[in-house]
Amino acid sequence: MQKILLIHPDITILDRLKKELEKRILNVAVLTAQTLFESNQALRHNQKNISIAIVDIDLQDSSPGKAVMLTSTHNIPTIVISSAQDKSLQELLRKKNVLDYIDKDSKNSISSTVDLVAQTLRNYNKTILVVDDSKLFRNTFQEDLKKLHINVITACDGAEAFDIVDSLEGENISIVLTDYNMPNMDGIELTMKLREKYQKDRLSIIAISATDDEEALTKFIKAGANDFLSKPYKFTELKVRIGANLDLLELFQKATDLANKDFLTGAYNRRYFFEASKAIIDKNYRKNASIAVATIDIDKFKNINDTYGHDIGDIALKESLVVLNKRLRQSDLLSRFGGEEFCILLEDISLEDTKDLFEDMREKFENNEISIDGIIIKYTVSIGVAYKKSFDIDEMLKISDNALYEAKNTGRNKVIIHTA
Ligand code: GH3
Ligand code: MG
Ligand code: MG
Repeated sequence: MQKILLIHPDITILDRLKKELEKRILNVAVLTAQTLFESNQALRHNQKNISIAIVDIDLQDSSPGKAVMLTSTHNIPTIVISSAQDKSLQELLRKKNVLDYIDKDSKNSISSTVDLVAQTLRNYNKTILVVDDSKLFRNTFQEDLKKLHINVITACDGAEAFDIVDSLEGENISIVLTDYNMPNMDGIELTMKLREKYQKDRLSIIAISATDDEEALTKFIKAGANDFLSKPYKFTELKVRIGANLDLLELFQKATDLANKDFLTGAYNRRYFFEASKAIIDKNYRKNASIAVATIDIDKFKNINDTYGHDIGDIALKESLVVLNKRLRQSDLLSRFGGEEFCILLEDISLEDTKDLFEDMREKFENNEISIDGIIIKYTVSIGVAYKKSFDIDEMLKISDNALYEAKNTGRNKVIIHTA
């Protein structure tokens, strides 16, 4: 869980900011301090785990800016809250790890602070690939993006960049920031090649070109670039462009999740399962390889709802994802098929390994204790598996359903595998 340290002399503002931050940012713990003394204490206990600090310049027990220096020397990215006129502000902003400041006299200082924190935390796990044949520019971009807490990978031409994206299969790279003229492969060709594999909703491409080169810009946009930045650029311009592109990617991701995922558990939904299973089934049928389709149903789940209520049932149901994911690989397709029933499609697996995997999964459910508000809940699952060569997902589901039916009728909490 990420931790935020909030240092402010006014308890009312402290409380409001804490509430707003917790509302906006998931999985975050907000630590608060009103004085330099309390700040020191908070740091002593949590120093390594604090992702960001928000610090008011004026505290009662110290001279202006003391707490900012404190968090900055502890290498914690820090946002300063201050009056724009404050004399010490400019000097503090030049300090290492100080990201930005919020004008405390502005009407929307609380919401601006929350926005800035959310943006900074969002940047932490984002990666940008900078493609430029000029070492000088690569370094400048790298330094500037580091200030935004973004991970940077660099490439010195289009060919190298394409290889990098391809080897990572686009995973983790959010934005490619590319120059135009480069040896081996120029920026426009790179953009075209990347767009054959990665659409605008997954990978953002920002073209860098000289301000007066309109022709290059037009070509870039036609090739599929999302945006452009002219060289030389200003830091603020880079920050705004990167922020806007990351925002957009996030929105696309949310829209995709809304369509493909189940709201309660976050697992893929039934519709997505059918859609995504097609390619996997085809590929394996061509390879003449067997696949496994498992239907997993929680035993006597109705009892849990009847005993503890539907809300606690929901939490217990969500927890099943944690257990399921313990044994699944990235390539395994997991979906909540409805109610307390899940389906899994596995490829590249032997019958032996299928048996081991589901037997182990069944056991993990049996031993799992879910603690909710002091209550311990346990449940078992029954698993029906179809294992064979097939080009027909409906057939596989029917077989696994029959196997599940058998598991339910012969005592539950067991795995039954049908191979024909
Ligand atoms: P069996 O071992 O035969 O599967 O028994 P069961 O009680 O699990 O099966 P049954 O199909 O009779 O009931 C399924 C229960 O799952 C009933 C329903 O209230 C509960 N359930 C389904 N979806 C949800 C959900 O989203 N949240 C909660 N809390 N309960 C759910
Ligand atoms: Mg059930
Ligand atoms: Mg059921």
